[in-house]
Amino acid sequence: MAIGTVVVSAVAWLAIAYFRHTSTFALPRNSNENILLVTIDTLRADALSSYGGPARTPNLDRLASSGARFTFAHAHTVVTLPSHTAILTGHFPYETGIRDNSGFRVHDGTQTIATRLKALGYATGAFVGGFPLTKRFGLTPGFDVYDDQMPEQHGAIEVSMPERPADQVVARALDWISKQQTKYFAWVHLYDPHSPYRPPPDLLAQYRSQPYYGEVAFVDRALGPLFNRVQSVSRPTLVIVTADHGESLGEHGEATHGMFAYESTLHVPLIMADPAGPPRTGHVYDAPVRHIDLLPTILDSVGAAPDPSLPGRSLRDVFLGHPAPDASSYFEAMTYNLVRGWAPLRGVLSGREKYIDLPIPELYDLGADPKETNNLADRERDQLPVLTNLLRTYNTAPPDRPGRESAEAAAALKSLGYVSGSAPARAQYTEADDPKRLVAIDRDLHSATDLFQDGETDKGIALVKSVIARRPDTADAYITLAYAYWEAGQLSEAIATLEEALANHAPDRDVRIRLGLYLAESHTDPKKAIAVLEGMSAEDVEALNGLGVAYGDAGRYADATRTFDKVLALDPTNGIAYQNLSSIVLREALDSKSPADRQAKLQLAEAHARMAITADPSLADAYTTLGVVLSTSGRKADAIDAWKRAVSLDREQFNALYNLWLELAQAGRRDEAAQFGRQFVSTAPPAFFASDIAEVRRYLGAS
Ligand SMILES: [Zn+2]
Repeated sequence: MAIGTVVVSAVAWLAIAYFRHTSTFALPRNSNENILLVTIDTLRADALSSYGGPARTPNLDRLASSGARFTFAHAHTVVTLPSHTAILTGHFPYETGIRDNSGFRVHDGTQTIATRLKALGYATGAFVGGFPLTKRFGLTPGFDVYDDQMPEQHGAIEVSMPERPADQVVARALDWISKQQTKYFAWVHLYDPHSPYRPPPDLLAQYRSQPYYGEVAFVDRALGPLFNRVQSVSRPTLVIVTADHGESLGEHGEATHGMFAYESTLHVPLIMADPAGPPRTGHVYDAPVRHIDLLPTILDSVGAAPDPSLPGRSLRDVFLGHPAPDASSYFEAMTYNLVRGWAPLRGVLSGREKYIDLPIPELYDLGADPKETNNLADRERDQLPVLTNLLRTYNTAPPDRPGRESAEAAAALKSLGYVSGSAPARAQYTEADDPKRLVAIDRDLHSATDLFQDGETDKGIALVKSVIARRPDTADAYITLAYAYWEAGQLSEAIATLEEALANHAPDRDVRIRLGLYLAESHTDPKKAIAVLEGMSAEDVEALNGLGVAYGDAGRYADATRTFDKVLALDPTNGIAYQNLSSIVLREALDSKSPADRQAKLQLAEAHARMAITADPSLADAYTTLGVVLSTSGRKADAIDAWKRAVSLDREQFNALYNLWLELAQAGRRDEAAQFGRQFVSTAPPAFFASDIAEVRRYLGAS
């Protein structure tokens, strides 16, 4: 009897152990599975309905209900490019060197999930929805396909970031996935929840007071066909969904993200599942997990050897119930240090404790205070040194400012009367430099942008000027102000504003590139534009395109061609570079004395213009340039078609409008000529087109 009892209880114990073993997420170990990584930009962990949030997200909820859902996953930074670089490389931002969106490019030769899986025989495809992850920023290594075509990617001098809606990105990914015969790694990046929040009409109606959540619901809807596809194929697919960072939505005085690293932006959702596998119960994990753990988990899941040089670790340990006890996490927010000279924000998570290292230090117990309303730094004086020491185990050197100019470039600038170089990064920051003390600056700059968008230009200008008066080294304030002047056709004010920023020692990289671009695009002083842009950034696509334009205006065609070729090496589908090459070759053709050479150059110019259109079918400027090439080649009817296309894509193609008027007037097609002529005189800015407007007016008056 006693023996029987023992046997029975042993069976029961084994059964319980077995149950415990299976009642966890079974991370595969399968070298033949597909990997699908979905990163949803700007997605708060608490937005999804599976996390108790207000957005209706049935597709992501279904995934979570059959897989693993993590309640305490964290990013390492709160902006798009650095965070995605951390996810894809498995390294902290100070290791990758990518600290902000602007001014950084992932180094060639960087190992990523794509390079590692490609080496293991995977087909690899990236499908990105937002400008900060386009090819020019260098996350392309290892991808067979890197699909980043954004609509309306006009050029450098824009305020809002070009983006592509989630359903379009998913459609491109599905198209590629359906063609794969072997195992694949697909990375799908959806940008929609990033501001501005503009969900489609039905979701706007449902989420009228909170359109952000409408964008989240839209992303979930767009993901439905992708998850269905994965479910319908026989090959297992490990699906991983996370966010690069969240969105503050006004918490702690922050409207969007980038300034702070509170949980509203640092805490991210994380879901893993295999929709093609047998139906399973979902599991929820509260252990701390980090973005740097994703790459080791993927390597583990496909049966690859672990890489000891990676700082993260496979989540298999979490699934098996013994997470690493020492898995602390480093995080940072460096944008405003780089563009506004504010104190750099760094911190560390240890268990549920969170320490933020700023001139006014912060310590939170996230278990008791998940909204970080109760700063314990003053009260917990014993715990503070423990966490500051833990933070010091990570590299906390201040970020290197990108684009530091060469001595030659600095001398060239000085000869033009510019103050050279911003104040060096400071060794000490005071409480006055703490972002917590500067939320009003950030709020006013957001309000100013809203005012400009609403057409309240004067009010916006006054508000930005008040920011500059309070904090004269706020580089992005000058850039915003200069843009407002530029848009209003006040070119000299735009340029003077940026010169003032240099004189006030604002962090200068973005300021100088913008100044160079305005100088280049106004075509007034190419020598000055060249002096400002040369040597500023060897790897900045916008700066290089501006520099090439200035070389062209200065008659330095070989330098211009070399510069545009450099852009294409960095960003092989950069339509603007092809279009710029076309206009350089066109100018060389016009200068050419030999008819055969001229003919060959015109053909090359046409080929470049058509490459530009292939690279970016929405690039109206390319049609305008193509029209000029065709007209010069004597193909007048084709030229008129190209210009009409340019004008239909973009009402502000003033050169195309003028050319249409001229060509049609010369052909005696008076009605059509008058139509385009009227459009030209009523829309073209007099600052650029005064004499052309006068000429067309005379024609219209006479006709
Ligand atoms: Zn982002």
